[in-house]
Amino acid sequence: AKYTKEDILRSIEVNDVRYIRLMFTDMLGIMKNVEVPTSKIDKVLNNEQMFDGSSVEGFVRIQEADMFLYPDLNTWLILPWEKLKEGTVARLICDVHRPDGTPFLGDSRHILKKQLKEMEKLGFSKFNVGVEPEFFLFKLNEDKQPVLNFTDNGGYFDLAPVDSSEDVRRDIALELQKLGFVIEASHHEVAYSQHEINFQFDNALEACDNIQTFKLVVKNVAKRHGYHATFMAKPVSGINGSGMHVNTSLADKEGNNAFFDETTKNKLSQIAHYFIGGVLTYAREFCLITNPTVNSYKRLVPGYEAPCYVSWSEANRSTMIRIPASRGKATRVEVRSVDATANPYLAISAILGAGLNGIKNNIEVKPVEKNLFALNEEQRNELGVYNLPTTLKEAIDAFKKSELMPTIIGNHLKEKLIDAKNKEWDSYRIYVSDWEIENYIKKY
Ligand code: GLU
Ligand code: MG
Ligand code: MG
Repeated sequence: AKYTKEDILRSIEVNDVRYIRLMFTDMLGIMKNVEVPTSKIDKVLNNEQMFDGSSVEGFVRIQEADMFLYPDLNTWLILPWEKLKEGTVARLICDVHRPDGTPFLGDSRHILKKQLKEMEKLGFSKFNVGVEPEFFLFKLNEDKQPVLNFTDNGGYFDLAPVDSSEDVRRDIALELQKLGFVIEASHHEVAYSQHEINFQFDNALEACDNIQTFKLVVKNVAKRHGYHATFMAKPVSGINGSGMHVNTSLADKEGNNAFFDETTKNKLSQIAHYFIGGVLTYAREFCLITNPTVNSYKRLVPGYEAPCYVSWSEANRSTMIRIPASRGKATRVEVRSVDATANPYLAISAILGAGLNGIKNNIEVKPVEKNLFALNEEQRNELGVYNLPTTLKEAIDAFKKSELMPTIIGNHLKEKLIDAKNKEWDSYRIYVSDWEIENYIKKY
């Protein structure tokens, strides 16, 4: 372990920590926290901090509401952006347990840990995950509410002065570095006001904790500059949306990249092919998890560099899975369908679970080197290429039918998720939008 209880007590002294945010993630991927004064640290470190889970999305009913937070000591972090008159604020990411001490089955972080144990049973030591989160910066109005006004007129890899939010992006990167993030690169994305910051890959659990911290930092720093940062998948129609490509690889017992094989033509191992086969086979079923909002499906349309079809290739960007050119230790499978509105713990569990299923059952899917956007649906189906769900409703239906998904996320979350997503879809379905008024009110 990175930190012991003693390390944390020492850090509290040295950094004059006054408050501790105990963080956890709800089913929908939203980070929540309970804040305690440092005087409660013994209680916290003894897993005795209680909270009321009944109001947390995907958690429990009122009669079984008491939950306990078990802090993961490795996630100890001073939050430098929290300004107190005196002293500092720190955080710990926690697992959620029931009063009888067992892990709570609605805790997505626990679901991922369970899936990682399944992985170990198959002889792998690590699931490495590196993400490419994209986001938009928008201006605020007088009431400090976000409006859809861009903060720059930049484009792909543009430099200032066109890219006037460059300072904000750099400030975000700096803030992340202070927290110990290793920044790989940051750049302006294709759309106005759209950005991407890449940080170093890590073990799946740490990578997911990092994603949650990353989103928090991006939003906080943007706010400091008078902007609003959003990870919603398609804030503006007619231009690119925001994805969160997920680069994955499995390490074998010796720590070597199990996706690399020097002896094959494409230098991908048989394991990599099976993993890809599994991910593609279950892509429609796990789409509800990786692309969980009504808005997610407005991103998965042709013409905006987001995938719409379930396929893979080594280079073609129209496919859902792409294999970046690097080989050796950096050999990886890039899943391009995911967006950052996903609960990362569940999304990574689903991708890993699907991939492992491919490995267990020797599933293989042939790569497609054609530009799929140039083919019609019939031609695509002939190649064995099917569409990703086109609406949240379709995704719910595919998820409901899945036999594999409940074995990964458990029945508790399955039921809660279907319930929440049905409500979301229904509320959207009966809403009369501007588009309808524009198109129908005069015509009829
Ligand atoms: N913004 C694109 C998406 O929605 C991805 C662009 C890229 O390749 O980085 O996935
Ligand atoms: Mg990108
Ligand atoms: Mg990418």
